[in-house]
Amino acid sequence: TDFGYRSVPEEEKAGLVEGVFKNVADKYDLMNDLMSGGLHRLWKDKLVSRLRPFPGMQHLDAAGGTGDVSFRILNAIREMEKNIVRLPQRQSSADGDSQTKIVVSDINEAMLEVGKQRAKDRGFANAAELDWLQANAESLPLDENSFDGFTIAFGIRNCTHIDKVLSEAFRVLRRGGRFLCLEFSRVDALPLRQLYDMYSFMVIPCIGELVAGDKESYQYLVESIRRFPHQQRFARMIADAGFQKVQFENLTGGVVAIHSGFKL
Ligand code: SAM
Repeated sequence: TDFGYRSVPEEEKAGLVEGVFKNVADKYDLMNDLMSGGLHRLWKDKLVSRLRPFPGMQHLDAAGGTGDVSFRILNAIREMEKNIVRLPQRQSSADGDSQTKIVVSDINEAMLEVGKQRAKDRGFANAAELDWLQANAESLPLDENSFDGFTIAFGIRNCTHIDKVLSEAFRVLRRGGRFLCLEFSRVDALPLRQLYDMYSFMVIPCIGELVAGDKESYQYLVESIRRFPHQQRFARMIADAGFQKVQFENLTGGVVAIHSGFKL
């Protein structure tokens, strides 16, 4: 069953997606917690542990929204830096002095603005490691071979051309660089799938209506999850973009999956 929602034609998608995130930017973080019961925090933690960030790394978090993944990467790197024994003349400032660069990029300015405010609230306001960039993940204004890591969390599903995002990820990564994608995926086990379908089609739009006053945006999000390629097919798309050692890992029974690949 399609639960009565209309499918979105490709040509309408970009505008619709922009509207969705403009409407929800303020409430976005609260909504994530409500809708996933806080699970998105654990999923993002797992993504960052799989990335294995390191001091000095150059990282791009595409469709980075309000900075959730980037802040985790920055925290992980700063934790590691605390444990590095430094020579006195290379003493670090409290703000971190490595050449680490984490670029939070997103197509939507409103999301980035909320992210910058959150950075302030977390004491990252002047973090030299963080850059904010408004950019479409399908055509990045960035040099090729310039990043060690590329993440995209709950973002690629919203892009019109998934293949363009993957080829851009491949282009901007250096040889040896790692691509990681966290995205809603396919729940296979039947009882869990039925429960999940009911939850997403009945509960999520209601939470959207109640909390953000915007049922349609959340109906769209649910539909976009259903339309996104399943684990195996998405893994093939990543390999087709040139990545090697492509793998995926299901979390929470496949509600989300982490796909990864290397540019070798
Ligand atoms: N990665 C963040 C997180 O996990 O909290 C944000 C995820 S949010 C569900 C999806 C983000 O994708 C939104 O901020 C939206 O603006 C962004 N987005 C949608 N289409 C995009 C595109 N073509 N290029 C870059 N960002 C895009």
